[in-house]
Amino acid sequence: MKSKNILFSCLLGVFMSSFAACGGRTPSNTHRVDTIPLTSCPDFLPDSAMRYIEEQCQFGPRITGSEESRLCGDYILAKFRQFGAQVEEQYGKVTLYDGTNLQARNIIASLNPQCSDRILLCAHWDSRPWADNDAEEKNHKTPVLGANDGASGVAVMLELCRIMQTQPPSVGIDFVCFDAEDMGTPQWEEDRSESDETWCLGSQVWAGKAVEKGYQARYGVLLDMVGGRGSTFAREQISVRFAGPIVDMLWKLAAQIGFSHFFPRTEGGWLMDDHVNVNRIAQIPCIDIVPYFEDGPSSFGPTWHTIYDTPDNIDPNVLEAVGQTLTQLLYNEKAR
Ligand SMILES: [Zn+2]
Repeated sequence: MKSKNILFSCLLGVFMSSFAACGGRTPSNTHRVDTIPLTSCPDFLPDSAMRYIEEQCQFGPRITGSEESRLCGDYILAKFRQFGAQVEEQYGKVTLYDGTNLQARNIIASLNPQCSDRILLCAHWDSRPWADNDAEEKNHKTPVLGANDGASGVAVMLELCRIMQTQPPSVGIDFVCFDAEDMGTPQWEEDRSESDETWCLGSQVWAGKAVEKGYQARYGVLLDMVGGRGSTFAREQISVRFAGPIVDMLWKLAAQIGFSHFFPRTEGGWLMDDHVNVNRIAQIPCIDIVPYFEDGPSSFGPTWHTIYDTPDNIDPNVLEAVGQTLTQLLYNEKAR
């Protein structure tokens, strides 16, 4: 994903005009003080999610189109299938910042596929080819291992799918792993004027096909970098504008089950992330759970797009806060 300072300058106007067309929403007015009744739900096991991060990282960096990517994609498919999901691969041509064409491979895993009342969970599964935000210039062309930026979101989805085998939720769930999220224009390129178009390519493919097929979901939740040590999740602002009630519900549930520290009621950035394509192309309201660091070299945390995005910098407590809150959210939903 790209950093928010660039997005502020490039995309804010575009988004603001689209909010006006939708009628807009005032986030400060959406907070209600009543509590949400909690349906009993299984325990999300952070150690299990941690293992899925390590297993993805053992393939090496998962750069779109690489052999490591192919093998890790096969692993992700096999795990979802093992956990009882109906799996599907989706390929589509994407064009990188330098004109290179690649096949992106999205992975879709569905639970309760006959149910027309569905909720979408998504995360990117590729990892960035370049550590171009590393403090040391000599590392800028080294691939990122992507324990947090890539593997963590997929790992949380795998663990959710695993625990749903024994106690199925009443709605249908689609887990979508997007390829080619993190192939955006490197920081060393001088011409970055078209940079916004170069990120989130796999989700563009998915969203286009979702429109063709008439795919519908009640709402979506994107998980991006949901395991980094020290992470807290402020309310990402595109999410608030497109899917404010979902943001309110998830943050409220987090507080009710004891994770308010991880989900503060503060404002995060405006991000170009896969949820933008889900919202704008597929027209499904989708929020982004993404860390927000007030201080440091990046608002996404100290390991973002560096060689230090490794499993030892993942905190299972962060995975648990995100995973258990999502579990509560999904089991609270009743099929209509
Ligand atoms: Zn990234």
